Amino acid sequence: MARKYQGHAVGIDLGTTYSCVAVWQEQHCRVEIIHNDQGNRITPSFVAFTENQRLIGDAAKNQAAANPQNTVFDAKRLIGRKFSDQVIQDDIMLWPFKVTAGVNDKPMITVNYMGQEKNLCAEEVSSMVLTKMREIAEAYLESPVKNAVVTVPAYFNDAQRKATIDAGVIAGLNVMRVMNEPTAAAVAYGLDKRTDYDGERNIFVFDLGGGTFDVSLLTIKGNAFKVKATAGNTHLGGEDFDNRMVNYFVQEFKRKNKVDINRNAKALRRLRSACEKAKRSLSFLVVATIEVDSLFQGIDFSSSINRAKFEEMNMDLFDECMKIVESCVMDAKMDKSKIDDVVLVGGSSRIPKVQQLLQDFFNGKELCKSINPDEAVAYGAAVQAAMLSEDIKNVPNLEPQNNSQLVLHNVPQLVLQDVTPLSLGISALGDIMSVVIPKNTCIPVNKTKSCVTSQDNQTIALIKVYEGERTRASDNNLLGSFTLSGIPPSPRCFPFSVVCFYINENGILTVSAKNNASGTSNKITITNHKERLSIEDIKKLIQEAENYHIEDKKFLRKANAVNALDDYIYKMTNTLKKKDINLKLSSQEIQLIEDAIAVAKNLLEENNKLVEIEVLEDHLEGLESRMKHIIAKTI
Ligand code: ADP
Ligand code: MG
Repeated sequence: MARKYQGHAVGIDLGTTYSCVAVWQEQHCRVEIIHNDQGNRITPSFVAFTENQRLIGDAAKNQAAANPQNTVFDAKRLIGRKFSDQVIQDDIMLWPFKVTAGVNDKPMITVNYMGQEKNLCAEEVSSMVLTKMREIAEAYLESPVKNAVVTVPAYFNDAQRKATIDAGVIAGLNVMRVMNEPTAAAVAYGLDKRTDYDGERNIFVFDLGGGTFDVSLLTIKGNAFKVKATAGNTHLGGEDFDNRMVNYFVQEFKRKNKVDINRNAKALRRLRSACEKAKRSLSFLVVATIEVDSLFQGIDFSSSINRAKFEEMNMDLFDECMKIVESCVMDAKMDKSKIDDVVLVGGSSRIPKVQQLLQDFFNGKELCKSINPDEAVAYGAAVQAAMLSEDIKNVPNLEPQNNSQLVLHNVPQLVLQDVTPLSLGISALGDIMSVVIPKNTCIPVNKTKSCVTSQDNQTIALIKVYEGERTRASDNNLLGSFTLSGIPPSPRCFPFSVVCFYINENGILTVSAKNNASGTSNKITITNHKERLSIEDIKKLIQEAENYHIEDKKFLRKANAVNALDDYIYKMTNTLKKKDINLKLSSQEIQLIEDAIAVAKNLLEENNKLVEIEVLEDHLEGLESRMKHIIAKTI
């Protein structure tokens, strides 16, 4: 049988602060988290633009403080939202990069790249991060990667999901599915395999990341994951804990040295990164030291902090997390003793105090934490990707053993199903929300509903499509609308049409309507949100992505050419330094080398930026062929 998807299929956790890519390795029967070129298993979701290049991931994050206006992060907070959205308005205050309203109220990020102003939409920035993740996977797998399952938060709406798929398309990926992050984490632990044939399993997913906190209560029945409730705080996470520690040490520095570093961005940045390191080690050790040489005005800073102090300074934030946990369980109207598994996700869930509070809340229940919490989502996405691409012949029992290895069992293959996060419907008589597809319906799904006229002799009808749980349609989120004309004159409540809602496996909705009376299939499909990218936009952005790629390659080629020439200058200089050089070479030959060094140095130093790559490469080639015989004499 031909495989549905050709080539490798990976799972990508496209995070707000960090992203992670994983792949199912058929030959080893396990998921592999793929490390990037820096050897890190997670990659910052950062993109930066400079005078001469574009940087993605660690390289972008590392230069963030020196180039704040042109270093873009948090694209996930922007994706699929409108500029006027209050969430965006609040976030803009916190970002060092510029965000303005574009066409159709789409938020646009302005950066300076190679001396020119560039406007980027969130999809484009996310596509750059996805491209990086694809390249990380390709380098590891040594072959092109096209297919991916990309994860999104459970609360992401239709627009945010569609925009994430668009980002994937721009990155040259075939997004096989967008998967809910908590679902992916539950799959990573193989919890879907633990249900009895007919049984249900309740799973609580606790995701404390870099800047966001999300909790979800899932119920698995058969192969369907239902999201019973979600809760969270969009500005609560690791960075807040870092900030608390920074403030603490700023005070200490002030006390000890009588100077305030609060206004000095560079000193604060260096202190912050030292604090983040200390925080990470406090998850394993009880004391951590902080050392920053010449922190401010030449003063070295050296101090230590113990775990108890760290917990004390963040206790209110940890308590806030627990309140949110409680409200989520309450929302689902579920007794907490009914929760079968509690899954830890997000780097900050490694903090021992957080784990202890959570375990206490669930009456001492063992937490699922054997998979690295910042990798669990990508892990589950990789399993789903392999299932979809039929790389997994037999679904393994994914319960990780001590060393995270998996054991294969012969169970029939199944593909997981997600459910609709919100109810979908149309506005009926009196602005009532008439639900066509209720919340938590397994997808893909196709449902129809009859529409009736609201007035006598009505010939035209406006069909408005909403998502949400409010009874009044206009209180919900309007997804789109279209008109249907040609209704024959008749008394009100005449059933003029059947509206059909279709949601595909990615949760993408299409609505169409047929005019009963005229018999014509007056079909209209809503696929585009106003703020969504059109096919033309996407084509343009794919071209842009290609241009960026060409420029990145050009930059690398030039850097290599400069290095190679520099290396040759070094080689020639060393030749001249040899003790017996005067015996081996004639004075003319020595002069030739000296002149060559001067010319090459001049080429590199004076107009390094303006010199064409070819000039550098040709110069080196000529130089090597001219000098080869002379240098050979000295060896
Ligand atoms: P995202 O929010 O983008 O999904 P992650 O889940 O990877 O990101 O979480 C990143 C956060 O986890 C960072 O703030 C980082 O400092 C924090 N973190 C990572 N490891 C540890 C650790 N050992 N102890 C405490 N915090 C950690
Ligand atoms: Mg995450």
